[in-house]
Amino acid sequence: MQNPDSLQVLLNDPNLSADLKDIAQKVLNLQRISFDEGVLLYEKAELGYLGTLANYIRNAKHGDKTYFNRNFHIEPTNLCVYDCKFCSYSRLIKQRGEGWEYTMEEMLDIVKKYDNEPVTEVHIVGGVLPQYDVPFYAELFTRIKQHRPDLHVKALTPVEYHYIFKKAKIDYATGMQLMKDAGLESMPGGGAEIFHPEVRDLIAKDKCTGDQWLQIHEEWHKLGMRSNATMLYGHIEKYWHRVDHMERLRQLQDRTGGFQTFIPLKFRNQDNQMSDVPESTVLEDLRNYAIARIYLDNFDHIKAYWAMISRNTAQLSLNFGVDDIDGTLDDTTKIYSMAGAEEQHPAMSTKELVELIKQVGRHPIERDTLYNVVTDFKDHVFAEESKPKFYKLPVVN
Ligand code: SF4
Repeated sequence: MQNPDSLQVLLNDPNLSADLKDIAQKVLNLQRISFDEGVLLYEKAELGYLGTLANYIRNAKHGDKTYFNRNFHIEPTNLCVYDCKFCSYSRLIKQRGEGWEYTMEEMLDIVKKYDNEPVTEVHIVGGVLPQYDVPFYAELFTRIKQHRPDLHVKALTPVEYHYIFKKAKIDYATGMQLMKDAGLESMPGGGAEIFHPEVRDLIAKDKCTGDQWLQIHEEWHKLGMRSNATMLYGHIEKYWHRVDHMERLRQLQDRTGGFQTFIPLKFRNQDNQMSDVPESTVLEDLRNYAIARIYLDNFDHIKAYWAMISRNTAQLSLNFGVDDIDGTLDDTTKIYSMAGAEEQHPAMSTKELVELIKQVGRHPIERDTLYNVVTDFKDHVFAEESKPKFYKLPVVN
């Protein structure tokens, strides 16, 4: 549980500056920190200080509980009409030979491969192409739910929704209602990048703006539905851009309460148009998780994608505000590996995930997408080794 003594030690430290003591006092009093204080944390606070504050908040909210889920991804295509500079994943339409475009039936076949597996979520996200439009996705969601009603459909980001709704000439509210009626149950957090146009116009110029991203989530929340939010950090943005990004999320969350989880995404520089930009250090990654935990007082969860930051850093992050390390994945996503992540075939069995969490003294909980407890693994003993299964996915050129 949270330990006020750890914060008291900070408050009594004669070497700690008055402004950082004020922030520690606010955390102890469960008060919100300001925009300027967020920037100050990035500019001035050391890792040990940030970890103490973030861990205090994390433990106050969740104790030692650490969440994961059993999921798989479908990435309909890696071709894209957009050309984001940081994207290692997409191939422009003119490079069609290097890509894949799944048909409806191929995507349903992927779902069917998990018929006898205890997965709870399918996460669908990929590039943007004209043939994947409103009728296509509505039919896909409907058919997945018809085939397996208990599988939670978490799909597409405002990047896709903005594109397909514009093409269909419908507004965001109408479009999100249509998607909900078709079977969509929640939205992942992607496509957020950095909201501020000063950065967004340089790295992701043509896709939906930061304001449009937020509007689509707001419409979704108004339907009583939940979603996540990400931030792509560690490239050309300044610290205040990160705080601006989180401030916009915090304000929307105050209005709707619809966000579940904030997921900082580390910029990776392999095989993209920003390969000359160095990647952030592990130290900076941990500082960033911690500041997110401190700043976003109205978000329940902070997630680290183990497949993106490595298993060891995911373990470390649990002491810097993170309480969720994502899912089993089953080697069904290429987004991280194509960007240069250490995990080239990301898949962990439930047993491996549980052990990863237990190794650092935390309490593993398998959750569903909406954070209902599926299995509490605190005292669970595994009867036999369950090895992850690898499925060969179809690739259409
Ligand atoms: S980040 Fe998404 S929208 Fe941008 S090019 Fe890559 S796949 Fe397309």
